[in-house]
Amino acid sequence: MSYELILVRYGELTLKGRNRKKFEDLMFLKLKQALRSFEAIGYEKNFGRVYVQLNGESYDEVAAKLREIFGLHSFSPVLRATHDLEDIRAKALQLMRAERPVPRTFKVTVKRAWKEYPHDSQEMNHLVGAHVLRNSPELKVDVRQPDVELKVDIQPQGVFLYSTMIPGAGGFPLGMNGKAMLMLSGGIDSPVAGWMAMRKGLEIEAVHFHSYPFTSEQATEKVITLTQKLAHYGGKIKLHLVPFTDLQTRMAQSGHDHLIITFMRRTMLRIAEKLAERSGALAIVTGDSLGQVASQTLSSMNVIGRTISIPLLRPLVMMDKQDIIRYAEKIGTYETSILPFEDCCTLFVPKSPATNPNLRIVEKAEAEWGEELERMIDEAVQGTETIVMTPNGRLVRKKEAEAAADRWF
Ligand code: ATP
Ligand code: MG
Repeated sequence: MSYELILVRYGELTLKGRNRKKFEDLMFLKLKQALRSFEAIGYEKNFGRVYVQLNGESYDEVAAKLREIFGLHSFSPVLRATHDLEDIRAKALQLMRAERPVPRTFKVTVKRAWKEYPHDSQEMNHLVGAHVLRNSPELKVDVRQPDVELKVDIQPQGVFLYSTMIPGAGGFPLGMNGKAMLMLSGGIDSPVAGWMAMRKGLEIEAVHFHSYPFTSEQATEKVITLTQKLAHYGGKIKLHLVPFTDLQTRMAQSGHDHLIITFMRRTMLRIAEKLAERSGALAIVTGDSLGQVASQTLSSMNVIGRTISIPLLRPLVMMDKQDIIRYAEKIGTYETSILPFEDCCTLFVPKSPATNPNLRIVEKAEAEWGEELERMIDEAVQGTETIVMTPNGRLVRKKEAEAAADRWF
């Protein structure tokens, strides 16, 4: 069936006042951006509702895009009728016949927003319902739990009919809630955490720590690919590649084998925080999930998280691995994440990493490194390379030191 329109509903209806207006304006902008490749498309706004006019563009292709837009609660393919009763009835029947799976029961819900229409909504329920029933002997009416609810919305400029509601990604439009720095490893979890942060309206930049030449170019390429996949949802994403070899080697010589991962994580966070400050990001996002590995016990999270003072967001903290994998598959990062390249944390991994690290011992060891640690952290920040990924490929690659002097991109 060829639909003419798609009714689009925004989410977060609890928003009020100025926030609501900001949300709707940004949403409309994101909607237009997401659909910009469909040249024929037009838009119609009507009492807080937005209709996408397909003008011959493929419903399926547009729907696939709509599903990905953050902040979009749901949408419905719509048939449009004139105010003529026979036209409304014909379109109602056409919609019901296209329903899959074939419904056994239905009900009609008419909303008469245009009060000058000659029949009130009760009459219209009956007039439309009776016509559908007459022409579909297998169908019955069920007003309590119908398989299909056929909605008929009578407006001054025409009548809109729809019966399905397709869920969108939900959340907030991208950028509405500020910016965060995503710690992106090559694993399954952190890309999902990044997607969830974006869904909540956070623009993200990503930071990845590599231990070249202990880790391969391919490991870095994998993270670049993951960033590109996230850029599919976020437009453009900056990826900061931090040289971590020296720090990692230094920590491996600490004499506290079981604490290496704890030291590494704390140091990564401190570097990420510095990069976040530079780029105006107000939080750090990780793919930590409670209990998954030694560094993600509550005790480890406690010791690791104390390193920084900006909020540390862990969207996956209460999720099971199976659920995380399902998301990774849905957003298209899973295949890349399971490629077998080593990342820096799988090197130098001690036989028994601490599941219950002692904060005092950790802080004491770090204090002993003192200025050396500070200097190495600064060097890592200075040596950071930044790439801007677009959905189609990378844009620029330069050292953070140069990038700081040249912030045009
Ligand atoms: P992931 O699947 O995201 O790699 P994981 O279950 O393998 O997670 P860890 O390796 O313990 O868990 O990492 C926990 C979190 O720390 C990651 O989700 C990520 O946010 C961050 N992280 C780990 N390694 C790196 C890295 N090399 N660069 C950037 N962030 C990292
Ligand atoms: Mg990992």
